[in-house]
Amino acid sequence: MSKASADLVRRFDAVAGMQRVASADRKTRWWITARRCPRCATPWLVGQDEVVHDFWALKRLSDSAVAAITNEAWWPADFDSYGRFLLRAVDADITARFANADELAYDAHRLEDLSPDMHACDKARALGEDLADYQRLLTLPPE
Ligand SMILES: [Zn+2]
Repeated sequence: MSKASADLVRRFDAVAGMQRVASADRKTRWWITARRCPRCATPWLVGQDEVVHDFWALKRLSDSAVAAITNEAWWPADFDSYGRFLLRAVDADITARFANADELAYDAHRLEDLSPDMHACDKARALGEDLADYQRLLTLPPE
């Protein structure tokens, strides 16, 4: 196993071993959960993309933020935009290249729905595509 794969497995284990405290809305923000480290009980906001890039992002939560999430369903906005969340992966150079880019048609349509405020070129970059390919994906059926 290469060093990069070992690091990826370690990161996956670190997130997968965490205890889920709460999940954001499953339909509109399925990539966001609140979790707790099983060793030190530190609470984390976890953004998790296993569809496009295989990428996780974590932000330490305060106890008051955990209480707001569990008691009032108030979530920090850090990972709210799906398109901007995917761009974090691209900016961290954790990107997937699809052998058959047409498989991204569903994701392109979903990005249009979830991140209408983003420029098309940023949405293209979030999927690791250039603008022309992104626009071509939008002409394909979403399935
Ligand atoms: Zn810990």
